[in-house]
Amino acid sequence: MSNRQLQIDSEHLQFLGKCAVCSTEYRLQQVKVIDKKGEAALIHADCSQCNTSTLFAVMTGEVGYVVTMGMLTDLTKEDLKRFGSARPITLEDVLDWHVQFEQSNALQGLKAKAAGGRNSASSER
Ligand SMILES: [Zn+2]
Repeated sequence: MSNRQLQIDSEHLQFLGKCAVCSTEYRLQQVKVIDKKGEAALIHADCSQCNTSTLFAVMTGEVGYVVTMGMLTDLTKEDLKRFGSARPITLEDVLDWHVQFEQSNALQGLKAKAAGGRNSASSER
C-alpha cells in the first residue's frame, strides 16, 4: 500500500467524468476526498449546474485514478463526516427500537391499516 496522500487537482477531475444528471464537468472546489484508506478513497462531488451530489469510490495506482463506482446521493459532505464518525448500529439497537415501536402501538396501527386495506381489496371482488 502506498502512503501517498490523495490530492485532487484539475488533472484528476477527468477521472470523475461528468455529472450523470446534466453532463456538466465537475469543478475542483466542489470535489473533496472524504476518506482514504491505503489506495482506496471516497470522493464527494457536487455538480455546479444542477447541485446533484455524487459519491465516487476511487482506487489509486501507478496508472492514475480508477473510479470503481459512482452513485448519486443526497448526502452532503457534512453528512458524510457526521455518519462516518458515528458508532455502528448493533443488534441490541434494533431490538430496542422494535420493543419501543411495539410499546408505542404504532405497529398495531399499521397492522390494522394493512388488514383494512386487504379487506377492502377482497370485498371489491
Ligand atoms: Zn449536474
